[in-house]
Amino acid sequence: MDWPRIRTDFPILDQQVHGHPLVYFDNAASSQKPRSVIEALVHYYQCDNANVHRGLHELSMRATDAFEAVRGKVARLIGAAREEEIVFTRGTTESVNLVAQIWAQQFLKAGDVILLTGMEHHSNLVPWQLAAKRSGAVLKHIPVLEDGTLDLSTLDSLMTEQVKVFSCVHISNSLGTMNPVRELCARARAVGAMTLIDGAQAVGHVPVDVQAIGCDFYAFSGHKMCAPTGIGALYGRYALLESMDPWHGGGEMINRVTLETSDYKAPPARFEAGTPDIAGVIGLGAAIDYLNSIGIAAIEARCAELTKLAYTRMSELPGIRLLGPESPRGALVAFALECAHPHDLVEFANTQGLALRGGHHCTQPLMKRFKVPGTSRASFYFYNTEAEVERMMDILHQAVTFFS
Ligand code: PLP
Repeated sequence: MDWPRIRTDFPILDQQVHGHPLVYFDNAASSQKPRSVIEALVHYYQCDNANVHRGLHELSMRATDAFEAVRGKVARLIGAAREEEIVFTRGTTESVNLVAQIWAQQFLKAGDVILLTGMEHHSNLVPWQLAAKRSGAVLKHIPVLEDGTLDLSTLDSLMTEQVKVFSCVHISNSLGTMNPVRELCARARAVGAMTLIDGAQAVGHVPVDVQAIGCDFYAFSGHKMCAPTGIGALYGRYALLESMDPWHGGGEMINRVTLETSDYKAPPARFEAGTPDIAGVIGLGAAIDYLNSIGIAAIEARCAELTKLAYTRMSELPGIRLLGPESPRGALVAFALECAHPHDLVEFANTQGLALRGGHHCTQPLMKRFKVPGTSRASFYFYNTEAEVERMMDILHQAVTFFS
């Protein structure tokens, strides 16, 4: 694979920050966008812009065709059985909230158990806390071991008939841990629990097959996989989506409306009230085309190479603590330096043109579990280079000298 050429598809990477070449290692927060995605947005607004679905004029039909074609692209990317199982949302957060509100309000009752893990992003924790509060259900968590993996020895006692919801993160944004989601969903299915996987760090990074995983729902965000911000999707097994009440009421999600009552469209339209983010969806489609043109397996292998190099080189730094298992891991390394608070380190790195992220990474309970106020995180995508990893190491060595 010609990675140097692929890198040139990302014009933003070719710039100086504070007098140094930009090294962008904040991909787990949001990835950069290739030219083809940016051009797809411009093309839509310059040539096809119109509202979707109801229009009988040329532009609306073009916009509708472009918009709806993306549903199939998403379905194929994540192995859904049919494209009607894809609901467009603003991203992972909105997808989880949809399920934690609508599914939970219909099917959860007092005393039921919602089983999560100790490494969930707040997006897959707070919505369930709200659902528990509303329903009287009880929240439980699979603990995280010192090595950053889940303590699966607790499953026999935790995965009981009382568990009605099991939800967990596919790849942890704070540890890099790749959870055994297929095995966990099988265990959850065996006790009759509904399953939802948070795939924010997985889709576009590793091959994802929702049918092989065997989950009921799968949530992800476009902006972490080369698509624009504000767009993502919820996969839902069709029978489950069909059994659910609508979420937002409004245009597009109804068949017939009287002054008193309405009846609702079948999924996915039932969950997509109002004018959607048409450009965002089209941008998501362009991102999927782009990623497929490289190949998800090649992207996974490239990210694994960069991550391995970074992990090995970083483990040589004096006074560093690396969190999460060495391997397998997602494309990130989170760490704590004895000599510097993460915020100070990230500010120092910024003065050298290096974009890291420091803080709790929306996983405050996990930071408490590891007894750190926060961590610094370097996260990679396929357009990063070995030379950038070496540049980060220079900067981290400078930081150790500066702060010690
Ligand atoms: N889950 C994980 C594991 C994440 O890393 C993130 C974002 O960082 C989210 C959920 C939330 O994603 P979004 O803000 O795109 O809804």
